[in-house]
Amino acid sequence: MEAILTASGARGCIECGKCVAVCPMGEMYPNFGWEMSPRGIIRRAVTQDDLYQEPVIWCCTGCNAGTEVCPEGVSCRDLIRGLRCLAIEMGIQQQTRNCTICGAPFVSGPVVAFVRERLGHHTRDYMDTCHLCRQRQYAQRNA
Ligand code: SF4
Ligand code: SF4
Repeated sequence: MEAILTASGARGCIECGKCVAVCPMGEMYPNFGWEMSPRGIIRRAVTQDDLYQEPVIWCCTGCNAGTEVCPEGVSCRDLIRGLRCLAIEMGIQQQTRNCTICGAPFVSGPVVAFVRERLGHHTRDYMDTCHLCRQRQYAQRNA
C-alpha cells in the first residue's frame, strides 16, 4: 500500500477538487459522490489500509483526466490501478470482467455496464476479450 501511495503521489493531495471537476464518473454514475470521486478515493487511500476491498475502486475509467489537471502531480489513475492490482492479488475480483479466451481480468464491471448501456449491441465482443487476445486473433486472421 505504501508503494502505491508513493508512486501515485497521493500524499501530496491538497484536496483542491480540480480532479473531481473533470472526472467522467460524475456523469456516468447516478450515485457519484465524495466516496467515489478521485479526491475521496485519494483521501481515503491515505487514511485507510483496506480501500482495495471496496467496489468503488472499480468505477474509474482510467482516463487520467484528473492527473492532467492536478497542481500537485497526483495520479488518481495510478493510485486506483494500484488498488485494483492489490485487490486482484488478494483474490477480490467480483468487480472485474475476465477475458473469455485467456481468463485474465482486464476491465472493470461498472465501466463495461456503462458502455454496454450506452452502446448496446455495437460493443459486440470488444468487451469480452482482452487486448492481447484480440491482437492474437487479428494476427492469426491476417497471417
Ligand atoms: S487535483 Fe490533485 S491536489 Fe486537487 S484534489 Fe485532485 S488529487 Fe488532490
Ligand atoms: S482516472 Fe479515474 S478517477 Fe481519475 S479522472 Fe479518470 S475516471 Fe476519474
